[in-house]
Amino acid sequence: MADDIESIEYVTSLSRPAKGCAGNTGEWRVFKPVKDDSKCNNCLICWIYCPEACISKEGINIDYQYCKGCGMCAEECPTKAIEMIKEDKF
Ligand code: SF4
Ligand code: SF4
Repeated sequence: MADDIESIEYVTSLSRPAKGCAGNTGEWRVFKPVKDDSKCNNCLICWIYCPEACISKEGINIDYQYCKGCGMCAEECPTKAIEMIKEDKF
């Protein structure tokens, strides 16, 4: 057991968007998150929660190639700046 915090080894993992065995995750999407810039305060909560890591920190841009439309970003956004819109193809 470590005696002090400096001696504890940490293991971190970083998620990166990637193509899955069923294609790009963006191809699964039924609802698309659309951000209203006038409501966004750049708090980065959506960036933290996105399970596909497809929201960029710079400008809070969503990479629709990998966004699977789960809606977590919209659910967690404190200012309700993200709306889930049904895709045209459905
Ligand atoms: S959670 Fe909402 S307010 Fe915060 S950065 Fe994302 S879109 Fe903007
Ligand atoms: S809907 Fe939002 S949280 Fe879900 S994958 Fe797309 S950008 Fe990420």
